[in-house]
Formats: sequence, C-alpha cells, structure tokens
Amino acid sequence: MWRELAAVGRDSGSGGYRRYAWTPADTDCRAWFRAQAEDRGLAYETDRNGNQWAWLGDSAAGDAVVTGSHLDSVPDGGAFDGPLGVVSAFAAVDELRARDVRPHRPLAVVNFGDEEGARFGLACVGSRLTAGRLAARDARELRDADGVTLAHAMERAGYDPDAIGADPERLARIGAFVELHVEQGRALDLDGHPVGVASAIWPHGRWRFDFRGQANHAGTTRLEDRHDPMLTYAETVLAARARARTSGALATFGKVAVEPNGVNAIASLVRGWLDSRAADEDTLAEVVAGIEQAAREHGARDGVSVEVVRESFTPVVEFAHDLRDRLAALIGADTPVPVLPTGAGHDAGILASAVPTAMLFVRNPTGVSHSPAEFAAEDDCAAGVTALADVLEGLACR
Ligand SMILES: [Zn+2]
Repeated sequence: MWRELAAVGRDSGSGGYRRYAWTPADTDCRAWFRAQAEDRGLAYETDRNGNQWAWLGDSAAGDAVVTGSHLDSVPDGGAFDGPLGVVSAFAAVDELRARDVRPHRPLAVVNFGDEEGARFGLACVGSRLTAGRLAARDARELRDADGVTLAHAMERAGYDPDAIGADPERLARIGAFVELHVEQGRALDLDGHPVGVASAIWPHGRWRFDFRGQANHAGTTRLEDRHDPMLTYAETVLAARARARTSGALATFGKVAVEPNGVNAIASLVRGWLDSRAADEDTLAEVVAGIEQAAREHGARDGVSVEVVRESFTPVVEFAHDLRDRLAALIGADTPVPVLPTGAGHDAGILASAVPTAMLFVRNPTGVSHSPAEFAAEDDCAAGVTALADVLEGLACR
C-alpha cells in the first residue's frame, strides 16, 4: 500500500506531498482507496460530502466500528499524517481476517475529505459537514488562492456540491470511531512506547495582533522620535514564549505581515498572528490575556497602539472516557500504554461531538510533522496495525 501511494502528489523538488482537496492528486488518492476497498471485497461508497467508506458487514445495521483518517496533505507534507491511519485500517482488516475472527458489528474504513484545509483554508471540511459543524452554504463558498470555490472544485472532480451537508443518518450508524494517526510530537519517543492512546485534544485558537506605529525614514529619524511597531511586536513574541513556558502551554507567532515592508523604512503596521494551545481553556485564556497585556504595556512605552482580534477558537475535545479506557486495556494488557493529549486537530476531534471517538498514536521519533521529514519506523507502523486490529477485534468481534 505504501509503495502505491508513495508517488501520488509528491513534489520532486521538495520531496513533500501536495495532496490538496479536489485536485488530481486527491483524485488519485481516492482511486487508490476505492481499489483497496474493492480488492478486499469491501462495499465501497462515497457519502454526500465526498468522504469515502469501505464496509465489511451491513452498513445499515448500525452500531458500526469505524476506523480511518485522511489522505490529503498540507503543502509539502509528510507521508504519514493521514495515510498512516487509512493504510493501517486496511491492514487491520487484513489482520482480522488472518486471525479468522468474525465481526458481529459492521466495520468500516473511512477517508475523510479535505482534513488539512490546505486549499480552502478551513480544516476538517469533510467531517465538519457530516457532523453539522459547517453549513453547506458556507462550505460551497470557500475559495482557494486562485478564487476557485469549493463547490466548483467538487464539481470538477465529479462530485455534486448541491448534495453536501449534515448527515445525521450516517453518524447514527456509527457506534465507535477510532482514528490511528502518526504522533505529531515526541511524547511516545520520550516514553519509549511505539503506540499510545489519546486522552484529549487541547483547546486552541488564533489571534491577530495589530501593532500600529508611524512610518518614517530609517536614516533620519532619531531613536527617541520613533513609533516603531516592530519593537512592540518583538517584545510580544518574547512575552508569548515566556508565558507559554511558565504555564506549560504553547504560543507561537508563525505568521507576520509588515507595512510598508521596506528595508529603509520604520514600519507603520506590524500584524502578527498568534497560535496558542493549552491543556485546558482557563490556562489558554490566561496565557493569551498575559500576552495581550504585555503587548499593551510595551505598546504604551513605544508609542504604538495594539489591537487584538480573536479569529478562531476550538474548545477542548475530551475523548469518550470509557472508549479510551477500553482501548488502553485492549492494547495494554501486557505493558500499559501511555494515554496522552495532543495539541493537533483531527477529524476525530470533530466526530467526538457526535459519536464515541478515540485515537491511537504511533511513535514519531523526531516529532516532526507537516514536513517531508515526518517519519515512523516500519516496526512501529506494524505495532500500530496490531494495536488497531486488537482494538477492532475487541470492539467488534467479542
Ligand atoms: Zn492528520
């Protein structure tokens, strides 16, 4: 399966994957999924939102155990983020058959569309639509960098954009959803475990900080006379790092826009985007309030005005405790497995609001993700498949 997927959407220059929703690379990934389903004699279907399903057993029977992930990528993404969950799901079905166990609940492998949001700017579009967390009208109007709407892109890929929308009937068939994913951090590596169980997805949000000063000549304006928003911005970045460290949270200014953006001009405006995440919503609110306060204090000193706008916020996702504990028991009978939170969003985080949901993580020795350097060792991938098969057998066959 890895060999077949290896070349799809891979940029020969960067070595990274560019599998964006409703592009030819995405279509190739979808064709691969369908072929995997049909090769195994699984009943293949796409739902109204373009998510792909491969069923073992009666899809209409209800109480299904569903596993899978996504096949799309970020720009120059790695090979494992998403595909590891889909490949492992098919491999786990093979493993169940090799064990000669018979599911008494329907099983399905799923590929959720447009998880990364690389093309239209919103993550988890396929699962959001299905779970009723994104209105069909809003989704259809999403635009890519070339101004192409999601509706038009879907149509060109052979799907009907008028059909998209909440799909409660499909969700009602699912008794449990388990997403296996490469870990996007080093917790398992530091712990020395190949596989772990997710406890929660940290709450996270994005805030835009506008620092407004006064444009002026870099060669003639005395230091005392400047209103330089770059200084305030720099102090705010440092404050964010300090706040995150003392609170055990994460705070990142990863994107910045400067006006007029001239080498020999003091900036008039620096706009910086803060991404912050923490274990709980109170801590996150405290961290962001602290960063905002530092920005205002430095702004007052620098003669720079500061405006902060919250652009998005995703509350904490606690995975269903009984399902999480069941997974930990099923795969940790001999050696207890780590149960760990993550700061990254997933389709499982969207589904968790509608169906009992859990996640398995597979060790990533460097922790690097969303990069061609993302990696999981073959033995660890195999351990992930065994763990997933144990989970599916425990949930669906006993
Ligand atoms: Zn992913």
